[in-house]
Amino acid sequence: MTQAMAIKLPRLQNDLLELFRIGYDAESKGVFRMGFTEADMQARDWLIRKFEQEGFHARMDSAGNIIGSMPGQHSGPVVAIGSHIDSVPAGGMFDGSLGVLAGLECMRTVRDHGLHCQYPLEVYAFAEEEGRFGGMMGVQAIAGELTPQWLETAHDANHMLLRDEMTRAGLNALEALNARVDPKHFRAFLELHIEQGPVLERIKKPVGVVDAISGVYKWLVRLIGKANHAGTAPMDMRSDAFMGLADFAHEIPRIIDEDGTDKSRLTIGWVKLKPGYAHTVPGEAEFTLVGRDTDPQVMHDLADSCRRVLSAIARKHNLMFEFEQMSWLAPQAMSDEVIQAFCRQAEALQLDYEVMPSGAGHDAQYMAKITPTGLIFIPSIGGVSHAPDEWTHWQDVEIGANLLLHTALDFARQSF
Ligand SMILES: [Zn+2]
Repeated sequence: MTQAMAIKLPRLQNDLLELFRIGYDAESKGVFRMGFTEADMQARDWLIRKFEQEGFHARMDSAGNIIGSMPGQHSGPVVAIGSHIDSVPAGGMFDGSLGVLAGLECMRTVRDHGLHCQYPLEVYAFAEEEGRFGGMMGVQAIAGELTPQWLETAHDANHMLLRDEMTRAGLNALEALNARVDPKHFRAFLELHIEQGPVLERIKKPVGVVDAISGVYKWLVRLIGKANHAGTAPMDMRSDAFMGLADFAHEIPRIIDEDGTDKSRLTIGWVKLKPGYAHTVPGEAEFTLVGRDTDPQVMHDLADSCRRVLSAIARKHNLMFEFEQMSWLAPQAMSDEVIQAFCRQAEALQLDYEVMPSGAGHDAQYMAKITPTGLIFIPSIGGVSHAPDEWTHWQDVEIGANLLLHTALDFARQSF
């Protein structure tokens, strides 16, 4: 009976706590393992040793991804599990690490039960998922989505070049192109991740099965008016760029009502007023606008609507309007086959689950381009993530890891 089989939570807990200590900062109580930093590479070495101590084979590929493997009766295709172990600055314990270490725990559980899977299991700890260099570099390498030009020029917010940071870490940026894996290598890819949002906690369900990952676009918008003396310029003779921005911010709920869905998000996260002086009417408002949805058509509709509304507001306030599209990442549906497998196993384990979208990006969105891929969530307390107080109840960790285990076995079609 596979239902009786379960992971051992204390082992997984211990691994999560041990990994959290690598790059941990006592002052902020967060972890600093940004891609290709010393702490990140130390964590990668730790992980290889961890697999080896358990008797599994592990290696680092040319993109810095760590791959632990367990053979099956056939040489392939492999059932892959994974996530990332890099972090944002002052990150939490679970983001990414959970999906990797739960994969390791799945392998240990299979080994302890003496199961011989038909197909090999592989656990991936992808490199640089958090986008220090503006992408998901490790998984993009595996999916064949990197270009030499990007590898040569990508840099972080402090203008450190990816290629220099990789050299420092003992890697070669251009060789990351060789990390590409033939899609035929894979049978399926499964990722377990914390939700990083408040939905599961609110509806009191322990598991979310993701049906699609939101796409996201980022604009840099400029409303240009005329800077003027805040005392002498009459209210009806101003070209106040901030007034335009404020009007637009108020239009966001209506734009979503008319052209979006309950999965749409529009966010103005960064604003700069010029000249930015208390006694001067703002002559320019520069701001970012980030839009998200899980449906490509809805994303286009939202973008069109934002453009129309911004034009109208600019006319009304006597402003000029221009914008630059910094990025456009299309939404990514998860595989029906894997969604159904997760749901089937959740029912067998008598888990109450929710089929839901993911508003955040994950490694799964690139694996989905090359193999049937699925993503499951467990609740984040208070919806908090990318922060030191990110937390998830241990019983939910156990539930998520067990669902991952049984679904992986479903694909590996174990025989006794
Ligand atoms: Zn993550």
